[in-house]
Amino acid sequence: MKVNVAELIRRPGAQIDVKLEGYLPSLEKELAPEATLLSPVTAKLRIDNSGTLIVVEGTLLVRVQLHCSRCLKEFALDLDVSFNEAFREKGPSAGMGMEQDDEIILFSGDIIDFTTTIRDNLIAALPMKALCQKNCRGLCPRCGQDLNQGECDCPKSEGDPRMAVLGKLLKTEQDKS
Ligand SMILES: [Zn+2]
Ligand SMILES: [Zn+2]
Repeated sequence: MKVNVAELIRRPGAQIDVKLEGYLPSLEKELAPEATLLSPVTAKLRIDNSGTLIVVEGTLLVRVQLHCSRCLKEFALDLDVSFNEAFREKGPSAGMGMEQDDEIILFSGDIIDFTTTIRDNLIAALPMKALCQKNCRGLCPRCGQDLNQGECDCPKSEGDPRMAVLGKLLKTEQDKS
């Protein structure tokens, strides 16, 4: 996921639009087993030479497979991620007191490698608690039935299982009398 910016660097104020597409096997490994990439990553980048910085505005598209945190089912999700990053050429000008700024990514030569940027932004965009649908009803805590597929036969009285045991005991007492 590299872009040759040799031309751009020489022309302050210039702007280029780039589209990159590629598989990221390293990201795949990092995400497994929580997520699987189902498509290559498409990155659309607008790269600006602001004069002092190379400013990148990008969108990333990729289809991932996740596990629902409630019903545990696998489902596909299309991620559409926007990001902004700034790059600066590593050069003899280092030492001007700007290098503490870790918001700015340094590069050298004519090539900017966007792989790490793309990887980090995709990881940050993954949902912490993935849901197959907004109102996923999850699994029955007693029998494990997927409640999206229909109700199970478990008693509806949700809540404290100790109360359920008590209820059963009371019932036995009644049966005895
Ligand atoms: Zn679900
Ligand atoms: Zn049940």
